[in-house]
Amino acid sequence: MGRVYNFSAGPAVLPEEVLKEAADEMLDYKGTGMSVMEMSHRSKAYDTIIKEAEQDLRDLMNIPDNYKVLFLQGGASQQFAMIPMNLMKNGVADYIVTGQWAKKAYQEAQKYGKANKIATSEDKTFSYIPDCSDLPISEDADYVYICENNTIYGTKFKTLPNTKGKTLVADVSSCFLSEPVDVTKYGVIYGGVQKNIGPAGVVIVIIREDLIPEKPPIENTPTMLTYKIHADADSLYNTPPAYGIYICGKVFKWIKKMGGLEAMKAHNEKKAKILYDFLDQSKLFKGTVNPADRSLMNVPFVTGNADLDAKFVKEAKEAGFENLKGHRTVGGMRASIYNAMPIEGVEKLVEFMKKFEEENS
Ligand SMILES: *Cc1c(COP(=O)(O)O)cnc(C)c1O
Repeated sequence: MGRVYNFSAGPAVLPEEVLKEAADEMLDYKGTGMSVMEMSHRSKAYDTIIKEAEQDLRDLMNIPDNYKVLFLQGGASQQFAMIPMNLMKNGVADYIVTGQWAKKAYQEAQKYGKANKIATSEDKTFSYIPDCSDLPISEDADYVYICENNTIYGTKFKTLPNTKGKTLVADVSSCFLSEPVDVTKYGVIYGGVQKNIGPAGVVIVIIREDLIPEKPPIENTPTMLTYKIHADADSLYNTPPAYGIYICGKVFKWIKKMGGLEAMKAHNEKKAKILYDFLDQSKLFKGTVNPADRSLMNVPFVTGNADLDAKFVKEAKEAGFENLKGHRTVGGMRASIYNAMPIEGVEKLVEFMKKFEEENS
């Protein structure tokens, strides 16, 4: 069987070129006679891999020198705890809850201090981004937290919230490297890599140096959850998720070759437009998100009939379009169209949807 069009929300599609290259290097990485998986993380070869990965990411995102780039483990979810443990100096943080991931982060932060929910879109099943231009930001808030792209609901912050001078912390797991970003607007940008960059387990944390405390304000913070430990050791305090970082590095090079984040943005906008334009004129399918807040990466849609949704997902799968079932909490369908999804994948999906619409109306 050939490759399918994989619309999974994560772990998700990766560039075929990268997978082929990794396959070619599986038994003998550049004359070392071993796989990257078998290599010491203290070796010369690995040192080059992780340093190049960091440099390529810095180039792509234009990351200023006063930000650290950390390759950590535990996925995005581990940051739900690590952020408050390291950043809650005053013991207060404000959370904007626009979906399940932000909600989980908010709930986790409550274990370590006073976490305030200052805005939410839960009243309409997280189908929009609330107005964040003048929120009741706490005077002593250590940071304001957002999930920038809501993977499950398909919404994205098109403008960042007005934090009234407070540090912005953003989970960008599902929009990482999908378009240019001004890193200086954030104190912390982090994301699990399995949505747009690489294999699950690796989480990348980009953090302004002055936010990293000598000692975390939360007592007995585990060594492994201490930013300072990882920052001082350049992500090599212990054995890092070495193979995963190697694949991330390859994806960074692929994005560079494709023209960087401006080119990614153009590519992603083109893909998303094909799908949204179809949804907007379809008599059978409709998008579930407030149009102004639509994500370029995750596109949820429904027919309005659960049986018909199930039939669509089943027939789509048979036709080579995988993982179109919506999140279990939302139902319907969701097409995740990350960087590595080719335009052709979206075009063919829309053709298939047209045909399905004709046959079922
Ligand atoms: C998938 C996802 C997570 C959870 O990632 P894990 O690596 O499984 O912990 C967190 N936030 C967002 C926005 C996600 O899409």
